[in-house]
Amino acid sequence: MRKKIVAGNWKMNTLPAEGVELAKGVVAGRGEVCSCVNFIVCPPFTHLSMVAEALKGSDIELGAQNCAAEAKGAYTGEVAASMIAALGCKYVILGHSERRQYYGETSATLNKKMEQAYANGLTPIYCVGENLEEREAGKHFDVVKAQIEEVVYNLTEEQFKNLVIAYEPVWAIGTGKTATADQAQEIHAYIRKVLAEKFGAAAAECPILYGGSCKPANAAEIFAKEDVDGGLIGGAALKAADFLAIGKGFQK
Ligand code: PEP
Repeated sequence: MRKKIVAGNWKMNTLPAEGVELAKGVVAGRGEVCSCVNFIVCPPFTHLSMVAEALKGSDIELGAQNCAAEAKGAYTGEVAASMIAALGCKYVILGHSERRQYYGETSATLNKKMEQAYANGLTPIYCVGENLEEREAGKHFDVVKAQIEEVVYNLTEEQFKNLVIAYEPVWAIGTGKTATADQAQEIHAYIRKVLAEKFGAAAAECPILYGGSCKPANAAEIFAKEDVDGGLIGGAALKAADFLAIGKGFQK
């Protein structure tokens, strides 16, 4: 049985006190959603310790949105995986399309970040996905395959057991456009096949999340698909009620 996961990527939103209120709202309403759903919130670095405190006593887990490629040292402005782990993070989002696009993150960088994450006991939420041009040219399968082969294929079998994949078509992120449930299923099944080519039966256990304008109105239809194990949620994670309502989308 694969984990069902709803993870909130807050991106660069909320001031610390607002983030604490948001986390408290998620904690307060969590009981209305099946305990079978694993909720994760990923606030900005500056909020992590305060949000960790707000989540205490709940089963909602904490993640960061990024980590450094190096362990420590003279890397001004960077935040090490060991630092976020020390603040209570269990997860770290890596390879988000905004990091790839605006900060030039390549597979070479991501391989180093993945190593740092695992060395510090964090589970990476590794994002893959094509842009609109690639989708329209029918290249989406090749794009996600390369993103997986260049990074995930370098993991050991042990590391692979602690991995979450998020499929996020760039054209659906923050645009209000969502992949149809069938489009999501098609590429999630493909991703699982690519994972199985390297990791065999273990691929059946890897949670694959959908991300891209997922909201309460469309979550149930998308999550009903066989190979969709939940969502990585941006905009809709900024309202506790919407974030929780997405969790209610699980009917399987
Ligand atoms: C994201 O960027 O991870 C995301 C899924 O954003 P949104 O839900 O706002 O499209």
